[in-house]
Amino acid sequence: MSGRLDGKVALVTGAASGIGLATALRFAREGATVFGLDRDGDRLREALGSDARAVIADITDEGSVAAAYSSLLEQTGRLDVVVANAGVQLFGQDSPIDSLDLAVWQRTVDINLTGTFLTVKHAVRSMLTTGGAILITGSPTGLTGEGAGYTAYSTTKAGGFGLMRTVAADYASAGIRVNSVVPGFTSTPLVSTLADDAESRAQIVSRVPLGRAGTPDDVASMMVYLASDEAAFTTGSTYFIDGGMTAL
Ligand code: NAD
Repeated sequence: MSGRLDGKVALVTGAASGIGLATALRFAREGATVFGLDRDGDRLREALGSDARAVIADITDEGSVAAAYSSLLEQTGRLDVVVANAGVQLFGQDSPIDSLDLAVWQRTVDINLTGTFLTVKHAVRSMLTTGGAILITGSPTGLTGEGAGYTAYSTTKAGGFGLMRTVAADYASAGIRVNSVVPGFTSTPLVSTLADDAESRAQIVSRVPLGRAGTPDDVASMMVYLASDEAAFTTGSTYFIDGGMTAL
């Protein structure tokens, strides 16, 4: 059976869990050779099994990121798709600005913004002569009032949209497409503090027109489309998979 990503080589960050894991597994099912990157090697190997190759790296460390790309290119000779997805939201620590600790701000910026910058920088370097597709996982909190109370998280996610648009404009002529995928409230370990609390969950879901939380697979479906040649005329854009939450 032919897949929508046959022949492509893809790297997905944050692949040990949640949206990154679902995306890595879907890419593999669609025929891609997949490398899943995460800092948590044990969880990563267990989650991916034999469907994708595990790359253990920390996206905040440029040496670690560069080595991951070099090793991948040595094995495959090409890289077609990168999903810059790894991220954190420090619930219970991120807060309105007057009480936000510098250390919490710095850690969130290091992972969500600098880590995404490094992932995308080395993706572009790897694709300069071949072209490719880069996807950045955004959040409604970077664009709407959904970010209220989460100063560091929402600021880093806003920055991701600027990065996406700039890189899309700079490298369109090299055949590199860059887009943002924006999950709404999606059941993953990242948001377990909210999802596992019946009252918080019901309160959030009440603001979702389609009436439920998203699944990682809902988001992976959009990732497959944007990574595929079906999206050949698509760059610099933002795609919401949020059950209509941001339409309200
Ligand atoms: P998750 O916690 O299930 O997975 C995130 C993964 O990123 C983890 O496996 C973690 O080990 C990895 N990671 C964190 N820091 C890293 C680092 N420095 N280097 C390498 N790997 C690192 O979370 P998720 O919900 O799947 O989130 C994935 C992305 O989706 C994030 O960017 C998040 O901000 C975004 N997002 C999630 C939701 C949601 O409701 N779940 C909504 C909007 C956006």
